[in-house]
Amino acid sequence: MPIYEFKCEKCGKIFEALCFTKEDEKDVRCIYCGSKDVTKEYSSFATSWGRGFIGGSGSCGGGRGFGFG
Ligand SMILES: [Zn+2]
Repeated sequence: MPIYEFKCEKCGKIFEALCFTKEDEKDVRCIYCGSKDVTKEYSSFATSWGRGFIGGSGSCGGGRGFGFG
């Protein structure tokens, strides 16, 4: 899913918006105050290591037969 992080320059809040095209990015509005004065934030993934990874499907399903052919 093409979800990007945006920052509202008016209220300073960070929010995420779904953008399929570049045109969608121009049309993004702040979900808090409705302002169009928003800037696209780069993903904070690279800058904040060690925030904690959520996930890990810890289910080892045993006893399931894999049939090939
Ligand atoms: Zn705002």
